[in-house]
Amino acid sequence: MRESYDIIVVGGGPAGSTAARYAAMEGASVLVLEKDREIGVPVRCGEAVDHEGLAPFIEPDKKFVAAEIKYFKLVAPNGMTVKPNIDGVGYVLDRKVFDYDLARIAADEGAEVITKAYVDGVTRTDESVTGVTVQYHGERLTLKSKIVIGADGVESRVGRWAGIDTTVSMHDMESAAQVTAANIDVEQDTCYFYFGEKYAPGGYLWVFPKGNKTANIGLAVAADRSRQKHALKFLDEFMQEHFPEAAILTKLAGGVPCAETLDRISMPGLMLVGDAAHQVNPVSGGGIISGMIAGKMAGIVAAEAVKNNDMSSLGRYEKEWQDSLGSRHHRYYKIKKVIYKFKDSDLNSIAAQMSRLPEDEQTLGMLFKQAVLKHPGLILDVMKLFFS
Ligand SMILES: Cc1cc2nc3c(=O)[nH]c(=O)nc-3n(C[C@H](O)[C@H](O)[C@H](O)COP(=O)(O)OP(=O)(O)OC[C@H]3O[C@@H](n4cnc5c(N)ncnc54)[C@H](O)[C@@H]3O)c2cc1C
Repeated sequence: MRESYDIIVVGGGPAGSTAARYAAMEGASVLVLEKDREIGVPVRCGEAVDHEGLAPFIEPDKKFVAAEIKYFKLVAPNGMTVKPNIDGVGYVLDRKVFDYDLARIAADEGAEVITKAYVDGVTRTDESVTGVTVQYHGERLTLKSKIVIGADGVESRVGRWAGIDTTVSMHDMESAAQVTAANIDVEQDTCYFYFGEKYAPGGYLWVFPKGNKTANIGLAVAADRSRQKHALKFLDEFMQEHFPEAAILTKLAGGVPCAETLDRISMPGLMLVGDAAHQVNPVSGGGIISGMIAGKMAGIVAAEAVKNNDMSSLGRYEKEWQDSLGSRHHRYYKIKKVIYKFKDSDLNSIAAQMSRLPEDEQTLGMLFKQAVLKHPGLILDVMKLFFS
């Protein structure tokens, strides 16, 4: 480890490793600091991604693809199941291997990656962030950089240390719980989603197969609703009812910021990416691909700023994000607010309408249409979505 780098990335998740990869490709000297002993561990994720999002970054490979997904099954509160036709394929990843590979690729491009390095603060002048302080091998070191990229996930503190307001309202912070379980007899090419008060009020419950009769089974509920009953309790009840014979291999709880992107994701000497910037899709709670997209943007903008010795250009990252996924997430956020108000009776009647359609018309678009008919207020937002 040197004392000074062009760019220091805090966090070796998908967003951080991707930022490091692209910054290093552009010729910057890059250091990734990861607090955990091993990249990719522990996993706090359902691990589902779509092919279209993944492929531009990395060729899907058997070593980190646990299951290939071709179908969705959506289960209404009354048990009625809808199987919409979906375009394309998706994957349930093995993130231990996937995250590791992303970090390896960043290292291949020239980034240094150091684990067991806990960043506990940023250094700054009045104008700019100038580096980090890090606990490493029993010492507290101060490392200098031209730019710090905060990719420190949902519990991010890098932005706050630099003076950015990173608060998420209780309503937007989804409280999630998940098990990875064996002896789960579900179709291995199908992701299952359960909706309704019984399963996950203000959210949804998922069963994502991982091959060999294993699956990630989890749910997320709005944190303000989970005060009455914790996400883990909902999950235990579901497991008892649906998979009483399952062996639980891992169990976790965590937060998902299903909020709008932070108002500020860059400032002189600092950029925030991934969950740290609240770049998760507010409807699905998926943040792997959006974190990687933001990581790439931030990495390239940062390296160019270093090359041109113009640290005032970091705002370009913010603009690029807003012009692409940011504005879409803004609309998703508005849609989420309407969808989460659906009552069980709304969801049951959407499922009933769908099941009456011929099979080839049972698409995700049609599902949305049924939802819009239930809540005409959605129409404007949905139309904007299709015309963007
Ligand atoms: C239960 C659950 C299920 C989910 N399911 C899905 C899904 O199916 N699909 C999907 O796309 N998304 C899913 N998500 C969201 C997804 O996991 C995140 O959006 C994604 O991991 C964000 O990537 P990231 O790189 O921003 O952060 P992370 O992957 O969280 O990486 C942040 C890294 O920073 C490190 N770090 C934190 N603080 C410090 C520090 N001070 N010093 C050094 N290192 C630090 C952490 O150890 C971690 O390795 C799920 C989330 C949860 C909780």
